[in-house]
Amino acid sequence: MSLSQLARSICESPTLKLNETAALLKDKGEPVIHLGGGEPKSKAPIDAIVSCSSLLQTGDVKYTPADGIPSLKKAIIRYTEEHYDRLVAPENVIASSGAKQSIMVLLHAILDPKEEVIFPVPYWVSYPEMIKIAGGVPVPVTARDGGFEPTVEEMGEAIGPYTKAVILNSPNNPSGMVYSDEFIAGVVELCEKRDLYLIMDDTYNRLIFDGRAPTNCYRFTQVHSLDNSKLVVINCVSKMYAMTGFRIGWAVGGKELIRAMTNIQSQETSGPAAPSQWAAVGALNGVQSSIESLRLTLENNRNVMMNRLAAFDGVKVVKPGGTFYCFPDFSAYERDSQKLSRLLLDKVRVVTVPGREFGMEGHLRLSFCGTVKDITEGIDRIKWVLHPGAPNELFLGDRKLVRDWR
Ligand code: PMP
Repeated sequence: MSLSQLARSICESPTLKLNETAALLKDKGEPVIHLGGGEPKSKAPIDAIVSCSSLLQTGDVKYTPADGIPSLKKAIIRYTEEHYDRLVAPENVIASSGAKQSIMVLLHAILDPKEEVIFPVPYWVSYPEMIKIAGGVPVPVTARDGGFEPTVEEMGEAIGPYTKAVILNSPNNPSGMVYSDEFIAGVVELCEKRDLYLIMDDTYNRLIFDGRAPTNCYRFTQVHSLDNSKLVVINCVSKMYAMTGFRIGWAVGGKELIRAMTNIQSQETSGPAAPSQWAAVGALNGVQSSIESLRLTLENNRNVMMNRLAAFDGVKVVKPGGTFYCFPDFSAYERDSQKLSRLLLDKVRVVTVPGREFGMEGHLRLSFCGTVKDITEGIDRIKWVLHPGAPNELFLGDRKLVRDWR
């Protein structure tokens, strides 16, 4: 078989692969605990379901405009005004099949071959592959202090003659880190000075803890006309409304850029699925209490996970300020995160995501979007595998496990 160079250079999404592995093991009756997940357990808001079903009941499900139906754009404009204090025009908005597609068509619209895109480590697994698909070169920036937020100077040092864009994702997948206002303000200023696109991936913007307000990047811009600005904000209904399967995301940016993205999307996939767009309209225009209830559940789960990990000698963890992920450092036990993740799956059926996928060895991404029981039992099982002082035996249901790897 002859495959393209591109196809041969792109890896499968490791997080989606893990979902498959977990589902297969569960089907076989294995007592799997999925701490690798990337979606809330709650149901989609009822307003989303009612709005989607109304369209389905007509049976009149047709192509939509390539950049989304007017009602969805209107709802996105209202959302942008309410949460970003920015009044934008319909021509500043494109709706896509998930935030992923918005980012992908954006990269296709801005990158020429070999142009570089900079983003901090740890990073969402898909950025490097998506940049490569668009012909660009990913440039991850590691903080010299070993933390999750490089300095603005470190970001600046990574800029070269081929740099085209910077991506920031805050709160961050996988670390849960909410970047400081100083860092975001500094990167906005840096990009404006160096004439670079800044892609703010705000997928988890509303899922933020400890009484903090979501960051609004527009507060830091000096370019007041959106159409002259290279700041692009990405959002989606996937996480905040627990609607991952509907696949609706959007980008807000300058008109010329949005037009280019729409042209690409119109040739690639056409507009997103009509029932999903109506579901997103329902969610965005409906009762908003589900976001707060999800946020509170996640904050409580975060606290449970932090308490459990605090009692785990040798594991270092930074308390996440948002999302539903944390990114503990297990290197005191094992530096090879893939080996560690495999060991935990094999021995105690706990699914985790190796830090290597996010650009940081020695760490595992652990999700707290499941139940409190999953979190506590999952961490207890991990501790049983790794901690030298753990008892010799563990019961998973009626199955008795004996440690044979000391
Ligand atoms: N950005 C980040 C940081 C994400 O974690 C995800 C989903 N895991 C996405 C974008 C993609 O979101 P969607 O499901 O809406 O495509």
